[in-house]
Amino acid sequence: MDYYVMTLFPEMIDTCLSTSITGRAAKKGILGFHTVNIRDYATNKHGHVDDYPYGGGAGMVIQAEPIHLACEDIKKNIGNSPRVIYLTPQGRVFDQNMAKELAKEEELILLCGHYEGIDERIIEMDVTDCISIGDYVLTGGELAALVVIDAVSRMVPGVLSNSESGMNESFEDNLLEYPQYTRPVEYQGLRVPDILLSGHHANVTEWRRKQSLLRTAQYRPDLLEKVKLTKKDMDYLKDFLCN
Ligand code: SAM
Repeated sequence: MDYYVMTLFPEMIDTCLSTSITGRAAKKGILGFHTVNIRDYATNKHGHVDDYPYGGGAGMVIQAEPIHLACEDIKKNIGNSPRVIYLTPQGRVFDQNMAKELAKEEELILLCGHYEGIDERIIEMDVTDCISIGDYVLTGGELAALVVIDAVSRMVPGVLSNSESGMNESFEDNLLEYPQYTRPVEYQGLRVPDILLSGHHANVTEWRRKQSLLRTAQYRPDLLEKVKLTKKDMDYLKDFLCN
């Protein structure tokens, strides 16, 4: 899968994606990261890509032309017209289902805004999807693009070394993941629950299911409404809610 990121700060993207799991996947050729500096498409001799907003107001707006030229160039070079995602606080809020859906694409173009944002005509002309990473305002779209790329990449086959580990995590079936422990058995007086040391797989699975339900009820009751609860689940939750 290849990502093309249009940005004014390519070093932010390059630095992050070349490390850890995404860096390893890029070395293996499973993922390709290509940053495109919008400034390289400035059409004035000063390299300016932003200007004052029509109608007045604070800040600057990235102009339509350099973004449009960069986008056209990417499409021409790859010989394809992939989805173009604009990272914006005004977009649909990103979640795990969107990550899975986007992981099916072979190429994605991501557009990072800055300052007050981008000229609206780019959204009309070039953008296919507007995605927000949450209800807050960042200084630029780079961190948002990195969040999206990271979450999508984990869903691309071969990126995670153990394909299982992407499957039992939080938000699968709308439940948060159960608590995890590793060695030592006791740390500062706190012990790993005995059931996890028992070697009894069925009991461990049941305990994990209960813990997932409990956590979701405690921290994300909104998610619980979407879970298909069994009778056993409901009995357990009833006990929890009554105590
Ligand atoms: N004036 C814009 C508004 O009120 O909608 C906000 C512009 S913001 C300061 C600059 C850039 O950061 C945006 O163009 C966008 O690319 C990015 N950005 C900010 N918050 C974001 C969020 N929650 N999700 C995704 N991108 C975001």
